[in-house]
Amino acid sequence: MASPKFSPVLVAVPTKVAINKRRLMRDLNAVSRIGIGSRGAVTRLVFSIKELRSRQLLIHMMRQAGLKIHIDAIGNIFGRWEGTDPSAPAVLAGSHLDTVIHGGKYDGPVGVIGALEAVRTISENKIPVRSPIEVVCFVGEESSRFGFSTLGSSLLAGEVQPKDLTNAVDSQGTKLETVLLSLGISRRNMNSLKRAPKTLKAYLELHIEQGPILEAKKKRIGLVTSIAAPSRFKIIFKGQADHSGTTPMEMRKDALVASSHLIEYVEKVCKKFSSMEKGRVVGTVGAMKIEPGVINAVPGRAELSIDIRSISAQAKDRVSGMVKQRARDIARKRHIGVEILTIREEHPVPLDNRLLRLTREICDEKGIIYEIMPSGAGHDAMQMAKITPAGMIFVPSRRGISHNPMEWTDPEDIGLGSQLLMETIIRVANEEL
Ligand SMILES: [Zn+2]
Repeated sequence: MASPKFSPVLVAVPTKVAINKRRLMRDLNAVSRIGIGSRGAVTRLVFSIKELRSRQLLIHMMRQAGLKIHIDAIGNIFGRWEGTDPSAPAVLAGSHLDTVIHGGKYDGPVGVIGALEAVRTISENKIPVRSPIEVVCFVGEESSRFGFSTLGSSLLAGEVQPKDLTNAVDSQGTKLETVLLSLGISRRNMNSLKRAPKTLKAYLELHIEQGPILEAKKKRIGLVTSIAAPSRFKIIFKGQADHSGTTPMEMRKDALVASSHLIEYVEKVCKKFSSMEKGRVVGTVGAMKIEPGVINAVPGRAELSIDIRSISAQAKDRVSGMVKQRARDIARKRHIGVEILTIREEHPVPLDNRLLRLTREICDEKGIIYEIMPSGAGHDAMQMAKITPAGMIFVPSRRGISHNPMEWTDPEDIGLGSQLLMETIIRVANEEL
């Protein structure tokens, strides 16, 4: 891919132009009211009625802003603002509107509505931009429903093929493919999703940090260097379901007891690799299914879902390998079966250095105190980085809490993030190619 040059001579940026923070927060709140439940928890699982309604609302907002709307086969929404050169590659900015179960208001929408506000400000103030700007909402960034993350952006980047979705099933047993078909989305429709890199100039994503670092360091902006990637796999211990009263302890093949040893091991080994030098590995057994799952039966089958992440591919692979080996050892020692199923294997993704430098320059000029940092969580940017230069801007999360109703970011910081996003978009859209 030919890399765009960002010329060192910067276009005059109308720094006096400010985004409309009230409108930004009003629209963010309007989105968060869709799917809100008790104690402020927001649930908009991908392809649920609530999630589809939030996308509808976004389309309405984009239309009001005068954007030209395009919705692709999987449901990714693009709202386009033409620059002076319609044939120039577009600057994309956005994120996602789907949430986890009982999530917060800001994970995702801040990046979508923040980008929309940036474009509205550019259009209202008639700020000249050469490249077109597209506000984008990706479908299914969260993996909460089908165990499959960054669905829309992965398809757009050509990182997954429609056939890779075959195994994705939600907790109700509904297949992702069935849900897609019910929405009129067939494999054949999806084949044409990949976007030609030459139509893109850059991708920018504003997002809440979802971690405690910015708050702890009293910084209002995080500039992201790279995104840690997960290895996700299932380990299924296959023992034997027996009567809990008649089966002597020494004759049991208890799949759950085997699992308990592995769960402890995941924590232990990740702690060993937790320092920055060792790759900051984190590992989680986030879900487990036990069968038969009744009080009077020895568990015969236990299925563990494991997520291992790091900013170092080497460290992540090493730890994943150790966990899998330990699972085999435990099974052998206990004379039970074990099966290991890969859900997804991804590599840490570096973001674009020139975009990082550009956002740094803007922060320096405006006296914004920032932190240069990696992202522990996955984002659509890690898929987009495979087809275009990608950059990310973080705003602080109170107490680092995310994927939780307590998730909160100061509106002042959200406004600052959107302002920085707008100024970055303007500069990128106007740079010489
Ligand atoms: Zn997110």
